[in-house]
Amino acid sequence: MPLLALLIAAAALAHDTLSVRWEPRVVHPGDVAVVFLTKLPDAKIVEGSAGGWSLTFFPYGDGYAALAGIDLEARPGKLTWRIGVVDGRDRPITASGTLQVRARKFPVQRLTLPREMVELDAPTLKRVEEESKRLGTLYATITPERLWRGRFTKPVGVSDPGEGFGARRIINGRPRSPHAGLDYSADAGTPVVAANAGRVALVAEYFFPGRLVAIDHGLGLYTLYFHLERADVAAGDRVERGQAIGRVGASGRATGPHLHFAAHLGQSRVDPAVLLQLKFPE
Ligand SMILES: [Zn+2]
Repeated sequence: MPLLALLIAAAALAHDTLSVRWEPRVVHPGDVAVVFLTKLPDAKIVEGSAGGWSLTFFPYGDGYAALAGIDLEARPGKLTWRIGVVDGRDRPITASGTLQVRARKFPVQRLTLPREMVELDAPTLKRVEEESKRLGTLYATITPERLWRGRFTKPVGVSDPGEGFGARRIINGRPRSPHAGLDYSADAGTPVVAANAGRVALVAEYFFPGRLVAIDHGLGLYTLYFHLERADVAAGDRVERGQAIGRVGASGRATGPHLHFAAHLGQSRVDPAVLLQLKFPE
């Protein structure tokens, strides 16, 4: 083969390969992994999935990036990802691979709560189910634009690093669903701020969460603030990172004043502490 043809073939080959970088490649339940596609300035469609859930890409640097949430009950093993890009040539360029999910040890929390907060009567049970369905619908609603920027900030100005994410809970002697948030102990009335920019998606008073605010950061990412004494925002409000959205309280099922801070990415319950560590230079 003449040299020129060889060079052209090599160039075409290089061009047909996606430059994909995952950070990290080894993940644990509750993690947020980021996938970067570089050297892709003119892509028209970028699609993908990880572990069966779709990845929502946004323009980043000279390419694209997407966040993937590893649910707190994800099983150890391999998680398959696939990415496809259409950039004006006849056929899409695709790539696939796996991430390694390793086990993470979660604490076991034994709690004793008043019976009426644990053994629910039929109408309360119905209410709880409806509320959890409404939250599920919210998490499945993906706003196509990215509203967050840069780093995520701790939602309360206390020294407590937060605790209890993923804790396997035994309440009044019976195993219950794991704890999906980070609890910060703080005095009632302490201001609660938005972890990043977004749009207030829900302000409500639910049985377990009490007075709550949910912020939609776009692309399937939501942060949640539970047990508030009061909320100072309304659904539809645009908020900036660090903006006050309410006050710490003990509403709903809470043994005392604290902030329950949670994060959802697609259908995955992720560790808010991991979100706070995410580095995203703009
Ligand atoms: Zn909590």
